[in-house]
Amino acid sequence: MEVHRQTCQNCQSRELHNILKREPGESDKVYVQCARCGEMVSRYIIAQGGYYHHGKGFESYLRGLNRGGAYESAKEILGDFGKIQNVCLAEFEEIKKKVEEKGEEG
Ligand SMILES: [Zn+2]
Repeated sequence: MEVHRQTCQNCQSRELHNILKREPGESDKVYVQCARCGEMVSRYIIAQGGYYHHGKGFESYLRGLNRGGAYESAKEILGDFGKIQNVCLAEFEEIKKKVEEKGEEG
Protein backbone atom coordinates (compact mmCIF):
# COMPACT_ATOMS: atom_id res chain seq x y z
CA MET A 1 0.00 0.00 0.00
CA GLU A 2 1.14 3.46 -0.85
CA VAL A 3 -0.17 6.60 0.81
CA HIS A 4 0.42 10.12 -0.29
CA ARG A 5 -0.62 13.40 1.27
CA GLN A 6 -1.36 15.99 -1.34
CA THR A 7 0.57 19.21 -1.49
CA CYS A 8 -0.17 22.32 -3.50
CA GLN A 9 2.16 22.37 -6.49
CA ASN A 10 2.19 26.17 -6.39
CA CYS A 11 2.93 27.01 -2.74
CA GLN A 12 3.58 23.57 -1.13
CA SER A 13 0.77 24.08 1.37
CA ARG A 14 -1.03 21.07 2.76
CA GLU A 15 -4.10 23.04 3.71
CA LEU A 16 -6.56 22.01 1.06
CA HIS A 17 -10.29 22.36 0.49
CA ASN A 18 -12.40 19.66 -1.13
CA ILE A 19 -15.18 21.06 -3.27
CA LEU A 20 -17.85 18.58 -4.27
CA LYS A 21 -19.49 19.25 -7.63
CA ARG A 22 -22.82 17.67 -8.51
CA GLU A 23 -24.43 18.01 -11.89
CA PRO A 24 -27.41 15.98 -13.12
CA GLY A 25 -26.34 13.37 -15.66
CA GLU A 26 -22.68 13.62 -14.71
CA SER A 27 -20.51 11.76 -12.23
CA ASP A 28 -19.92 13.68 -9.02
CA LYS A 29 -16.53 15.31 -8.93
CA VAL A 30 -14.25 16.60 -6.23
CA TYR A 31 -12.04 19.57 -6.93
CA VAL A 32 -9.20 20.07 -4.51
CA GLN A 33 -8.27 23.70 -3.99
CA CYS A 34 -5.32 25.08 -2.08
CA ALA A 35 -6.61 26.91 1.01
CA ARG A 36 -3.57 29.19 1.01
CA CYS A 37 -3.14 30.37 -2.58
CA GLY A 38 -6.41 29.27 -4.17
CA GLU A 39 -4.83 27.23 -7.00
CA MET A 40 -6.48 24.05 -8.21
CA VAL A 41 -4.51 21.08 -6.89
CA SER A 42 -6.39 18.14 -8.38
CA ARG A 43 -9.71 16.72 -9.47
CA TYR A 44 -11.27 13.36 -8.71
CA ILE A 45 -14.24 11.70 -10.39
CA ILE A 46 -16.33 9.70 -7.94
CA ALA A 47 -17.40 6.21 -9.01
CA GLN A 48 -21.07 5.19 -8.73
CA GLY A 49 -21.75 4.31 -5.07
CA GLY A 50 -18.21 5.39 -4.19
CA TYR A 51 -19.00 8.49 -2.16
CA TYR A 52 -19.03 7.98 1.60
CA HIS A 53 -19.42 10.95 3.92
CA HIS A 54 -18.54 9.76 7.40
CA GLY A 55 -21.12 10.49 10.09
CA LYS A 56 -23.78 11.48 7.57
CA GLY A 57 -25.54 8.14 7.75
CA PHE A 58 -27.49 5.94 5.46
CA GLU A 59 -29.96 8.52 4.15
CA SER A 60 -27.22 10.69 2.84
CA TYR A 61 -25.66 7.68 1.12
CA LEU A 62 -29.04 6.80 -0.36
CA ARG A 63 -29.50 10.30 -1.79
CA GLY A 64 -26.15 9.94 -3.49
CA LEU A 65 -27.20 6.66 -5.05
CA ASN A 66 -30.52 8.10 -6.15
CA ARG A 67 -28.73 10.65 -8.22
CA GLY A 68 -26.86 7.88 -10.02
CA GLY A 69 -29.91 5.59 -10.34
CA ALA A 70 -28.09 2.24 -10.33
CA TYR A 71 -29.54 0.22 -7.43
CA GLU A 72 -32.65 -1.91 -7.22
CA SER A 73 -33.18 -3.61 -3.90
CA ALA A 74 -33.18 -1.86 -0.52
CA LYS A 75 -31.52 -4.85 1.10
CA GLU A 76 -28.66 -4.69 -1.35
CA ILE A 77 -28.15 -1.01 -0.66
CA LEU A 78 -28.23 -1.41 3.12
CA GLY A 79 -25.73 -4.27 2.90
CA ASP A 80 -23.42 -2.19 0.76
CA PHE A 81 -23.68 0.79 3.06
CA GLY A 82 -22.65 -1.27 6.08
CA LYS A 83 -19.72 -2.69 4.14
CA ILE A 84 -18.65 0.68 2.80
CA GLN A 85 -18.80 2.22 6.28
CA ASN A 86 -16.59 -0.51 7.72
CA VAL A 87 -14.18 -0.53 4.81
CA CYS A 88 -13.80 3.26 4.92
CA LEU A 89 -13.13 3.32 8.65
CA ALA A 90 -10.63 0.46 8.50
CA GLU A 91 -8.87 1.89 5.49
CA PHE A 92 -8.74 5.36 7.01
CA GLU A 93 -7.12 4.02 10.18
CA GLU A 94 -4.57 2.23 8.02
CA ILE A 95 -3.70 5.26 5.91
CA LYS A 96 -3.56 7.50 9.01
CA LYS A 97 -0.91 5.20 10.46
CA LYS A 98 1.05 5.20 7.21
CA VAL A 99 0.94 8.99 6.97
CA GLU A 100 2.11 9.33 10.59
CA GLU A 101 5.01 6.96 9.87
CA LYS A 102 6.03 9.01 6.89
CA GLY A 103 5.94 12.24 8.88
CA GLU A 104 6.42 15.55 7.17
CA GLU A 105 7.76 14.38 3.80
CA GLY A 106 4.27 12.99 3.11
ZN1 LIG B 1 -1.13 26.79 -2.83
